[in-house]
Amino acid sequence: EKNTTDITELMTKRLPDKVMGILYLIGKKADKEGYKVYGVGGFVRDLLLGKDNLDLDLVVENDAISFAKSLKNYLNGKLKTFPQYQTARLTLPSGKHVDFATARIEYYAFPAASPEVEQSTIKQDLYRRDFTINTLAVKLNGSTFGKLLDFFDGAKDLKEGIIRVLYNLSFVEDPTRIFRGIRFEARFNFTIEDQTLLFMKNSLITGVLDKLPGEKLYEEFRNVFYEENFMDALMKMDEIGIFENIFPDLKLNENKIETISIIQDILQWYEQRSYNKSVSKEVLIFSCLFYDQPAPIVSSLSERLKIPTKIREVIFTTINHENYLTKKLEEDLKNSELVELLDGYPLETILFVLARKDNKSIKEKVYYFLENLKGVGISITGEDLKNLGIKPGPIYKKALEEVRKARLDGIVSTSEEELEYVLDFFAKKGERLNG
Ligand code: ATP
Repeated sequence: EKNTTDITELMTKRLPDKVMGILYLIGKKADKEGYKVYGVGGFVRDLLLGKDNLDLDLVVENDAISFAKSLKNYLNGKLKTFPQYQTARLTLPSGKHVDFATARIEYYAFPAASPEVEQSTIKQDLYRRDFTINTLAVKLNGSTFGKLLDFFDGAKDLKEGIIRVLYNLSFVEDPTRIFRGIRFEARFNFTIEDQTLLFMKNSLITGVLDKLPGEKLYEEFRNVFYEENFMDALMKMDEIGIFENIFPDLKLNENKIETISIIQDILQWYEQRSYNKSVSKEVLIFSCLFYDQPAPIVSSLSERLKIPTKIREVIFTTINHENYLTKKLEEDLKNSELVELLDGYPLETILFVLARKDNKSIKEKVYYFLENLKGVGISITGEDLKNLGIKPGPIYKKALEEVRKARLDGIVSTSEEELEYVLDFFAKKGERLNG
């Protein structure tokens, strides 16, 4: 333990009083019950970076579950234990939760581990982690509260902005770390250290991704997509050969890169509009990555990545209908025709059309649809039709749809006009009305 920096002051400044209070209580309880407890992971990393992160990850020597149990009543929380992982989650009355993990020793990592070395358990637990910047820990026990543990020069790498792996075989052991490293690099605008990058590339060459289950691969892709700065992360993934490694033609090219960066702009625009429907970013990005592939390849890639069925269906729709939609959008369309064309499509498909086609008239129509037409409704309802004495049935839906079309095309604009229009509709149909 080289570094005995005390970060109590930083903690006090950065963390809400309530969180500080909980941490003090946990430390006091640990003293009393004979446990050692540490704050670890992203929580400590982000604390030193000055970024908010209140995901409290604690490591306990030597039994997280029994310690969490003893805290349960003390903090009036709800406890969920996971004995197979020796972890526990304590949910406090405020709804905030604290995660407890048992400090683990991996003997292969420290063949000569000697139990009498103080701190060895926490040190070995930290050694199992992905990157040096994630190996920082802060002591929470009463007497030493706030002491930073930095066995692997994590603070230095954090300061210098370096993503450094802890040992050669790290990526072979767990290939998801490749994606994690790329995400951290993009998120913090750090640099993956040369040797680490080489380990990543070498592990890819030996086929580590082939052994990764599709569900995990999908999750890691998704995590990358949802990073704010995902564009840099995607470029890095491409640079070290991840896309090619999964399928040769998946490699990025100018066209895909441009489309993805337009997608980024469109999503930003969409979010600013604060529409209430959220967009599935992975549909847009996967659609872009798969776009120029033949259908059987798209299917097998979706299978390889175990893309969930719902998402997969939207991706297929998006890729398969983009051309048709574009063609139709080139035509002269009344508002009602524009709505009829686009309303049945998932939002992602519509946004994808926007990203793909650099055609002013198409873009204008799509934006016009999203901004001015999509939400347009009418004033009259089935109740009004009933009051008119029309027998309820499928005709109601049809009638109201016709009124909406008229409204979209500016033929009617008030509820009186709508009523008039609907009466006319039924008169033409020869419906018998009361009165
Ligand atoms: P994010 O902000 O993306 O959630 P994080 O590091 O803050 O990342 P987690 O992904 O929940 O949070 O991980 C918590 C800690 O667990 C990390 O800081 C890291 O030390 C460790 N960890 C997580 N995944 C791995 C892994 N695959 N290999 C090694 N250590 C890991």
